[in-house]
Amino acid sequence: MENTGRFRELLEAELAESLAAQATLSADIASVSDLRRDSNVDDEHDPEGSTIAFELSQSATLMRDADSRISEVEAALARIDAGTYGSCEVCGQPIAEGRLEARPWTRFCINHAGGG
Ligand SMILES: [Zn+2]
Repeated sequence: MENTGRFRELLEAELAESLAAQATLSADIASVSDLRRDSNVDDEHDPEGSTIAFELSQSATLMRDADSRISEVEAALARIDAGTYGSCEVCGQPIAEGRLEARPWTRFCINHAGGG
């Protein structure tokens, strides 16, 4: 792909957003963990304890999402540098620009998108 400039911008914005989300989440997880330790609640029998456990698991899930998004975005930026950005990894065909605009980190054309 010749003109990767705007996709690089989209990816860099996405990266900044995911890094910020990750920082917020890790602060959340740390403070909820502290709270849990300080309050000494019984997770299984105390209603407050299960709320804390739920919050922790939710934050952990979002954290994993942010982590994997960051790796996808970094890999896409590396493909821009390598000059291979915008081609499907399965068939090698160019990925539609509309698709790249919506998901600039994608590695697959619409036919090979699978779950991603
Ligand atoms: Zn393909």
